[in-house]
Amino acid sequence: MTYVVTDNCIKCKYMDCVEVCPVDCFYEGENMLVIHPDECIDCGVCEPECPADAIKPDTEPGLEKWLEVNNDYASKWPNITSKKDAPADAKEFDGIEGKFEKYFSPEPGEGD
Ligand code: SF4
Ligand code: SF4
Repeated sequence: MTYVVTDNCIKCKYMDCVEVCPVDCFYEGENMLVIHPDECIDCGVCEPECPADAIKPDTEPGLEKWLEVNNDYASKWPNITSKKDAPADAKEFDGIEGKFEKYFSPEPGEGD
């Protein structure tokens, strides 16, 4: 198994998660992060740290799409290990439904 970053990270990107990951397996897109499923050691430390409740174990039902997104973009986006400021409008987007369809960006972030 692995943990995966899901819909509510998009445009929230609080980044509390990257600070706690013992194996630095977060990767940064323009408006969300993903976890590299092959690097994640399933420690679960990041899950409660996410203010947007966006990190889930892939053993939860219905997360196949997110496993694919995390796997796909972790190899395309740069590694990120230190927290940056969240977007100024992060709170406004917290909890909005269907963010992937509306706002997902395949563009890479800056990384560390
Ligand atoms: S803490 Fe949550 S919202 Fe913030 S970047 Fe990590 S997964 Fe995304
Ligand atoms: S579960 Fe552990 S290893 Fe996996 S991304 Fe979260 S903090 Fe990193």
